[in-house]
Amino acid sequence: MVDSEYVFTTARGEDIRVVISTRRGLRNITLRPKTRPAREIHISKPWLVRDRAALDFLESKRRWVERIFDRAPAKECAAPGMCIEFLGRSVVVVHDPARHSNGYSDDGARLIIGGGADMFERRLRDFIKKEFLAEVKRMIHTCPRELWPARIAVRDTTSRWGSCSSTGTMSFSWRLAFAPTDVMRYVVMHEMAHRVHMDHSPAFWATVSELYGFGVERAKRWLNTHGGELHKYL
Ligand SMILES: [Zn+2]
Repeated sequence: MVDSEYVFTTARGEDIRVVISTRRGLRNITLRPKTRPAREIHISKPWLVRDRAALDFLESKRRWVERIFDRAPAKECAAPGMCIEFLGRSVVVVHDPARHSNGYSDDGARLIIGGGADMFERRLRDFIKKEFLAEVKRMIHTCPRELWPARIAVRDTTSRWGSCSSTGTMSFSWRLAFAPTDVMRYVVMHEMAHRVHMDHSPAFWATVSELYGFGVERAKRWLNTHGGELHKYL
């Protein structure tokens, strides 16, 4: 049995690999759009169905398939040599397998990731998460001490950028590291204001403005418009 391969081009111009396999005993064509680990469309078809018919079937489901890929934006692969921007700095990421630790070059222009090539992306992600947490703490420490949370957690949530529990734990999505730092600071101050008001009342927003300063609306707008894009990195 040989799998055949085709390409499905979405309305946005992304080429997605289509793999068609034939299975004995299968009665219908089955379609599986996969967004991870690789973005591929897998089609299984019965023995007597031609590839052409399987591709026509895929075409008839185009809108459904495109919606699935649109909702899970393609991740940008991290590769040595690429330039990456996070927490307001722009660095070229390089890989040095001889090093055991990660860190910036002396001039700060490069971020050197150590360890094996297979761990490169993971270590880069962990490094950014660690820097992100440190930056969150720095921002929190600009607020009055009585507002400081008991615990800070870094998460990879898709639904919310930050949260604040009544027990004093504050959580943030580390992907804010890829947002402008003022936008990240807005989310931190938003959660800090929840230490005073657990609702979104006018009094709450007044506290946000007090902590953040001028420009809360602009930061909110940025997050509404561009927030989804923060998920395409790593
Ligand atoms: Zn809130």
